[in-house]
Amino acid sequence: MIDEFNLGVQSVPDRDTAYCILGGAEDNEIFEEAGKILREGGVVAFPTETVYGLGASVYCEEAIDRVFRAKGRPNDNPLIAHIADMSGLEQLVTYMPDHALRLAEAYWPGPMTLVLPKLPLVPDSVTAGLDTVGVRMPSDPNARNLLRAAGVPVAAPSANRSGRPSPTKAQHVLQDMNGRIDMILDGGESVCGLESTVIDCSGQGITILRPGYVTAQMIYDVTGIQPAIGYGTVTGATVPKAPGMKYRHYAPKGRLFVALDDDSNDDCNSRIRDAYDKDFAQGRKCVILVTKQDKEFFGNRNAILIGDRTDLSTVAHRVFDAFRQCDREGYDVIYMRGVPDTGVGAAIMNRVIKASEGRI
Ligand code: AMP
Ligand code: MG
Repeated sequence: MIDEFNLGVQSVPDRDTAYCILGGAEDNEIFEEAGKILREGGVVAFPTETVYGLGASVYCEEAIDRVFRAKGRPNDNPLIAHIADMSGLEQLVTYMPDHALRLAEAYWPGPMTLVLPKLPLVPDSVTAGLDTVGVRMPSDPNARNLLRAAGVPVAAPSANRSGRPSPTKAQHVLQDMNGRIDMILDGGESVCGLESTVIDCSGQGITILRPGYVTAQMIYDVTGIQPAIGYGTVTGATVPKAPGMKYRHYAPKGRLFVALDDDSNDDCNSRIRDAYDKDFAQGRKCVILVTKQDKEFFGNRNAILIGDRTDLSTVAHRVFDAFRQCDREGYDVIYMRGVPDTGVGAAIMNRVIKASEGRI
């Protein structure tokens, strides 16, 4: 069926996955077709402002099962349900505590997931048997058009194979999912580049289960509640509470080492340079992920630019793409200087530490 659909479809040789580029005159038809595929139990990858999602109707257990299989995702890791507007909540959750409502009013649509008490009709396969469901209203216009066309809440984890860096471009999705799913919608690069902040609002207080663009300070600003931290931090003291946060994740194929940014610039960069030179002398193919400010320090050593230290949103935007570039170029060892563990830096460090083999 999908192969016959040729509006804006770029043919991918020898595969069944339709690849549709958005931004043209056929967008409406593409969204209608993609929405129909979702309602009928298919799997569609789509752009969001965080990363690309792998969508299936929340109510279609067979499609949910296909998402887990396409990703190779462990069954105990729940999916986030995506909605187009507030009325979508009525199909998913029993109630919205006041503080959750304030968060939704302030930061939806946007890169924030709220974990709320679920309605019985939400299948256990979506929530991994939990009595809560993660809900997000994305802001990306293409994501919103797709959700409206689907007319059902869409469960969507990141559209990468489990353990791999999250996809921030449709090409990344194609690399991981070609032949495994029905359709990929290409809406260009994800603006944020990191997954949503996951916030547990199902109990009395507020707990951040996964850091993201919506920071602890932003939560405090609108609720007056200081959120608890429920994810592993750089110092490693906290036991992760979101099921998905316990796995090694987001990782490039080469071994990634992080120099924590806890001392002077030169110290941090010298440690990276010394480790690089040692590995290089032993015949390993090495690369350093550098910001604009640090690039010069490393001379003519292999380097990939990941943004500007004075604007960490540029690093958030680039980091997963840089990991995939390391894979393509076949580096054995990758070094990166950490960023300050606050604001969006906390989200970057959370992903980088989880992807890394160790620290230097
Ligand atoms: P991904 O789908 O790859 O963006 O990952 C979703 C993240 O949200 C994972 O870390 C999940 O464990 C977490 N999550 C989703 N639903 C829930 C829930 N009901 N309770 C706690 N964590 C959740
Ligand atoms: Mg993911």
